[in-house]
Amino acid sequence: MQFSKLWQQLLGVERTVVDRVVFDEDLGAVVASVRPRKGATRRCGLCSRRCPRYDPGEGRRRWRTLDLGVVPAYLEADAPRVTCPEHGVVVVAFPWARHRGRHTTNFEDQVAWLATRCCRSAVEELMRVAWRTVGAIVARVVADAHGRCDPLDGLRRIGIDEIAYKKGHRYLIVIVDHDSGALIWAAPGRDKATLGRFFDALGESRAAKLTEVSADGAEWIATVVASRCVNARLAMDAFHVVAWATDALDEVRRDVWNQARRDGGDKALAERLKGCRYALWKNPENLTGRQKGKLHWVAHTNRQLYRAYLLKEELRLAIRLKGDDGIALMAHWLNWASHSQIPAFVELARKIRRHRTPIEQALRSKTSNALVESTNTKIRVLTRVAFGFRSPDALIAMAMLAVGGVCPDLPGRATPIPPELTAA
Ligand SMILES: [Zn+2]
Repeated sequence: MQFSKLWQQLLGVERTVVDRVVFDEDLGAVVASVRPRKGATRRCGLCSRRCPRYDPGEGRRRWRTLDLGVVPAYLEADAPRVTCPEHGVVVVAFPWARHRGRHTTNFEDQVAWLATRCCRSAVEELMRVAWRTVGAIVARVVADAHGRCDPLDGLRRIGIDEIAYKKGHRYLIVIVDHDSGALIWAAPGRDKATLGRFFDALGESRAAKLTEVSADGAEWIATVVASRCVNARLAMDAFHVVAWATDALDEVRRDVWNQARRDGGDKALAERLKGCRYALWKNPENLTGRQKGKLHWVAHTNRQLYRAYLLKEELRLAIRLKGDDGIALMAHWLNWASHSQIPAFVELARKIRRHRTPIEQALRSKTSNALVESTNTKIRVLTRVAFGFRSPDALIAMAMLAVGGVCPDLPGRATPIPPELTAA
C-alpha cells in the first residue's frame, strides 16, 4: 500500500492527499500534512461551489483529529480563501472538517456520539476536550445535519409542549413529529411570539399540510395554532390529562393527611397515609403486594381519598380506551366527578369541560402519546446533563442529537469487524 493511501485509511479521511506525517516533539502529537485531492480544491466553505482563489488566508491551519493509538493527532493544511458569487470572500471547504470547525468531522462525530451516551467527565477525559468545546461541537454537528435534511419537511401531525429548565424558571417550547417521534424544533420561551417563529420557519404551504396539532391545553398555543395552521385540528396530549388527575388526587391526599395531623394529632394515621403515596400514584397493574394492601387500607379507612383514587383511575382508563368507548367513559366520568363533592375533582371536571373538544379529538384520532411523552421525558433528563452548558442553545442541540434523529454514527464503522476479532 502506498504511503498516502495507508495514512488516508488510518486517519479516516476521503478526497484527501496525505503528503507527510511527523511526530511533533514539542506538541507530543502526530501531525499529518494534508491537502484536498484534485476536484475537492478551491470550493466555497459554505456551498461547496468551485470558486476562484482570493488569497492565502491565514496560511497553514491545524485540526484536532482522533488519537492515533495513544497519542493525539492533528491534520495540517493550507487554508486559502476563495471568492464565492453567493458568499463573498470565504475560507475554502476542507473534505475532512466542517466549516469553521477546529476539529475534524471524525473527531466531532465521535464527541457527539459520546455526548449522548456518556457522562460529562468521561467525554472530557476520553476526548481531551473541555465541556464548552463539546457544546460548540454538538451545535455544529446538528446544524450540519439540519442543513442536509430539513426536519420541518413532510410533517403531518405534530405535538407542541413546554418544558421547564434551570430549576423551573425558564422554559423551552419543544415540537415533536408524532409520526417519527423525533424532536424537530425547540426554542427558549413560552409565548405566542416564540411559537410564531416556528410557524415562520415552517412557512405557509408546509403549515397547510398539518392535519393535527396536539398540545398541553395552554390558551396561547391554541390561539397561535388556530391562526397559523388552518387545516389542522387541535388535540390535547392525553398524558397531560392523566397528570392533572394525579395532581388532583395528590391534593386530596395532602388535605386528608393535614387533617389527620391537626385533628387531635392522630400521628399514626398521618404516618400511614404518608406511606400510601406511591400506592395511590402507580397504575394498579404495577402495584406490589404490599402496595395493594395499603390501597385496601385506604378503601376501608378513608372513603373520600379512595373515591378520589377511583376517579383518577376511571379517567386514566377513558384515556387508555380511546375512540368512542373512551369518549363515552369520559362523559360518565365528568358527571361523576362534578357530583363527587371532592373540591379538587369538581375543579378538574370544570377544567376538562373547558378542554373537552381537543381531548375528544385526541381520543378520536388515537394518536399515540407514548412517543411524545418519552421524548419529553428524555429532554427533561438532558436538562440535567446539559446543565454545564451556559446557553439554552447548547441544551437544544444536545436534545436534537439525543431525540432528534441526527446523532452521527461512530466514524469508520461502515465495514463490520469479522466476528473472530470481536470475540473474547
Ligand atoms: Zn458559497
